[in-house]
Amino acid sequence: MRLDDERESDNVEDRRGESSGGGFSLGVGHLSLGGIVLALVISYFSGISPSTLLSLFSGGSAPAPQVVSAHKPPANDAMATFVSKVLADTEDTWQVIFRESKREYRDPKLVLFTGTTSTACGAGKAAMGPFYCPLDEKVYIDLAFYQELKDRFHAPGEFAEAYVIAHEVGHHVQKLLGISDKVRAAEERAGNQAQINALSVRLELQADCFAGVWGKRADSMQHIIEPGEINEALNAATAIGDDRLQQEAQGTIRPETFTHGSSAQRVRWFKRGMETGDPNQCNTFNTKTL
Ligand SMILES: [Zn+2]
Repeated sequence: MRLDDERESDNVEDRRGESSGGGFSLGVGHLSLGGIVLALVISYFSGISPSTLLSLFSGGSAPAPQVVSAHKPPANDAMATFVSKVLADTEDTWQVIFRESKREYRDPKLVLFTGTTSTACGAGKAAMGPFYCPLDEKVYIDLAFYQELKDRFHAPGEFAEAYVIAHEVGHHVQKLLGISDKVRAAEERAGNQAQINALSVRLELQADCFAGVWGKRADSMQHIIEPGEINEALNAATAIGDDRLQQEAQGTIRPETFTHGSSAQRVRWFKRGMETGDPNQCNTFNTKTL
């Protein structure tokens, strides 16, 4: 990507190397808390159902936000600088898009952490993959995930890495637009897990589409994408489709258990955003064919 002229975001919080602190350090007694945590975060990979997630928002079971000292990442850290520039680009892009529809965009924070960290949604763990916590409006990422993207998912490349951030920022956009709340209400009405999973898929595919919208808009404004890089993001979207992951993990595919969408669906919605640059084209809740 061409990011040399990009500014860095002021919204990156560097917690790498810190212990998770507070009551959230891992121990046997915290297992149930771990359950809550898993239910609460919108995670990239872990196949968490937002039903549990969102139904818990209204309850009192969410742990109180932890106060964590905020540090800026060091200037000579290439990976942190990259993430910071991509985040800044999502800020600029979504500011413009929100203004077009007379809305105000509120920047999310992005937290770099290693291993485990406390979040308003409970303990965040690297194993969950990057995730967004709607309660504190922060994206959490352990940069070791990018190594996994290369090694395990065979999806290298800067634009693939940027897509991961843009997808989580997409969840933040959903929060600001009130979509997450609507999905939560729909899930409370849902009769069974398959319906709840189907809502999750629509939420995730919309975040993919929003990531594409960012890609398109950012590239038209700043020309940040280099030849071939769009394919990197498509490759990443393919690699993390539920069907591909299930095939690799279990050797079978069960579409009714999908929570993020198939590879083809993830590619299609990312492309839809990338081709149109129009968030209104990302209404995954109002279409028969995903
Ligand atoms: Zn997601």
